[in-house]
Amino acid sequence: MRCSEATRHLQLYIDSQLTLDQVRVLEAHLALCPACHNECLFLEEVTSTLGALKSVAEPADLTVHIMQRVARSSQRNNKRYSLLRPSLLEWLAVVVLATSTLIGVCITLVLVGNEIRTAWFKAMLERLPVR
Ligand SMILES: [Zn+2]
Repeated sequence: MRCSEATRHLQLYIDSQLTLDQVRVLEAHLALCPACHNECLFLEEVTSTLGALKSVAEPADLTVHIMQRVARSSQRNNKRYSLLRPSLLEWLAVVVLATSTLIGVCITLVLVGNEIRTAWFKAMLERLPVR
């Protein structure tokens, strides 16, 4: 067993979640590897210390306070990013403006194109030999 595999199994070993074969292989590695053995001792100490901590009862109104703060926070965020989230009416205004601008550009292009074509025909007619 390599050290990387051993360290992955250490917490499972401490929590008694390994099979008997896995325990034997891991313990054989721990007997030969001081680094993994020390890591195992450290994890056992941390687990033991955490297990000895007394649980703290949360205040009865904790959930209400959290939900109120979340609601206030989302209201603040909505105001802050309202420019980035336009309403349906604002979207419609943008679409109408964009469409009318596009139509205006198209009409301009058609008119300018007609003028260019007319000027080109006149120039071509002037080049024709007069009989
Ligand atoms: Zn090792």
